[in-house]
Amino acid sequence: MEKQRVMILGTGPAGLTAAIYAARANLEPLVIEGNEPGGQLTLTTEVENFPGFPDGIMGPELMDSMREQAKKFGAKFVMGWVSGVDMSERPFKVTVNEKDEYLSDSLIISTGASAKLLGIPGESDNIGRGVSTCATCDGFFFRNKNIIVVGGGDSAMEEATFLTKFASEVTIVHRRNELRASQIMQDRARENPKIKWLLNVTPVEVKSDGNKVNALSVKDNETGEIKDVETTGLFVAIGHRPNTAFLNGQIDVDKVGYIKTRGVSTATNVEGVFACGDVMDSHYRQAITAAGSGCKAAMDVEKFLEGSSVNDWLEAPAKA
Ligand code: NAP
Repeated sequence: MEKQRVMILGTGPAGLTAAIYAARANLEPLVIEGNEPGGQLTLTTEVENFPGFPDGIMGPELMDSMREQAKKFGAKFVMGWVSGVDMSERPFKVTVNEKDEYLSDSLIISTGASAKLLGIPGESDNIGRGVSTCATCDGFFFRNKNIIVVGGGDSAMEEATFLTKFASEVTIVHRRNELRASQIMQDRARENPKIKWLLNVTPVEVKSDGNKVNALSVKDNETGEIKDVETTGLFVAIGHRPNTAFLNGQIDVDKVGYIKTRGVSTATNVEGVFACGDVMDSHYRQAITAAGSGCKAAMDVEKFLEGSSVNDWLEAPAKA
């Protein structure tokens, strides 16, 4: 089995930026594309806030370009998903599609996070046609429209408050009467005159005219009555799930499952394993911040492969 110097797991902006940097450093990275090649940006339409594209760029096109750029410098790609990783010794062993095994001196984990969806009819079919999981990405398209945000946590409060910059009215739809969000975030949303509330209802179906969303059907949890709430935009803000289950507890993660990195670096608690992008960032979650951390991961790997320990370059080495 040929041994790689670095393998990159995941091909969102973090993984592909890491691939570009690692390839330009002559490390010939082997990149595993993952379940959703290109990551979450392939689920959006136009990206207007990625620097360098004053007229915007379609999410899938941006990801294709990053992939081409990495390939041009020598990154190799394997279609498939990582079914297991053995980090008990170096080189690390990575299993792809439950059968193909690879060895690598170092790993960059950039498997991202997936927005949780409601799983109701009409929802996934209308992603990019009114259904979104990212207010920062898509809010701008709903100027002067009525929109719905589903969820009762901090994300829902934050997204709803942010969306009032564009929308004429934002209705927060939540399945209970009580919110999960912190008091300060709730208060901010409650004080916003553009935000309306529809509580104790369960979303049951996203309706569309075949082209774009026109209503969300909800069931009243007390009476069982089902009614349609007219809307052109539906933002699902019920949390994200970092894609770390395949690591089987071999790396330190926080209580939600996001990988913990050390200080300003992308190093994890396992020497030789680095993490970048949404899999280690529950806060910023932007394509550009993911790309930035992908760059850092490749630079960290390069140093590691040159024989330098993370502790040598961290300003404040993590305590044992
Ligand atoms: P969260 O706290 O887990 O809240 C998810 C919300 O979605 C809950 O209200 C939940 O309802 C609802 N939900 C989950 N599954 C659902 C389903 N299938 N159908 C309908 N509703 C569903 O997630 P989050 O809001 O993304 O926050 C995650 C973490 O990030 C939290 O620790 C939060 O404090 C933090 N965060 C902080 C900020 C900030 O401080 N600026 C911003 C965003 C996030 P139930 O309440 O009924 O379970």
